[in-house]
Amino acid sequence: MPELPEVQAVVNHYKPVFLKQKIERISNPNSYSKVFATHTLPKLNKNVGGQLIKDVFRRGKYIVLQTEKGYLCIHLRMTGQLQEGLDSFVADKHCSFAIHLNTGKTIYFKDYRKFGRLYYYSTLDTLNAKLGVEPFSTEFSFVYVAGILKKSTGMIKPLLLNQKYIAGLGNIYVDEALWLAKIHPKKKSNSISKTKVKVLTRSIPDILKKAIDFNGTTIINFSYGNEVPGDFKQFLNVFGKEGSSCPRCNRPIKKMYVAQRGTHICPYCQRL
Ligand SMILES: [Zn+2]
Repeated sequence: MPELPEVQAVVNHYKPVFLKQKIERISNPNSYSKVFATHTLPKLNKNVGGQLIKDVFRRGKYIVLQTEKGYLCIHLRMTGQLQEGLDSFVADKHCSFAIHLNTGKTIYFKDYRKFGRLYYYSTLDTLNAKLGVEPFSTEFSFVYVAGILKKSTGMIKPLLLNQKYIAGLGNIYVDEALWLAKIHPKKKSNSISKTKVKVLTRSIPDILKKAIDFNGTTIINFSYGNEVPGDFKQFLNVFGKEGSSCPRCNRPIKKMYVAQRGTHICPYCQRL
């Protein structure tokens, strides 16, 4: 599933395509109407048809197209991809929506598993109400992270995955950040030392920034544009590395399950 760096890579790629363009209409090539999460297609088109795209940005794992009247928000979920230049056979089979621009250009939302969704809001209040702080914002600080950890007796990994505390993290980067901070993913949140919380607070934006520099990580299904993959996979330390040596201590990386999520750790560096 695409996380913050992958969504940012998509935004970086498509911002020049969408910015200052007008939306002519949105269509539903494969007729999968559930993709429209907040409005029916005719109502959606009433809101966005003829609207100028004023800005393109990311909030959590959402791609946001800001129009004159509101916000068109795309969530890629498991397999959603924004692509151009698809032939009609692929579009009719796998694309649950397409954004047609006034210039004649069409951006397709290709989604094999159909979990991706398109939302339209007149303000960002709904998103802001369910999403916590952005890891690159000034609000993301040791005080903030220590504050949310202190209030929780639950395991640290599910807390970091919970979008209402920190927006944008998913399985890959949580595993990487916990390894960097030498914290076991099952560790009780309120029992982690101040020193480790400090390292964790630093590690989260660090790892995300590096991943964005390489356009994210492609494990199975992430790509954008014309099948452009993310190149960060080569820099992962633990995620997907079961049986490989820990880059810090050379002992083998283990895979386990934490809150039903496949989790990669070095059992020597990350003690419970
Ligand atoms: Zn290790």
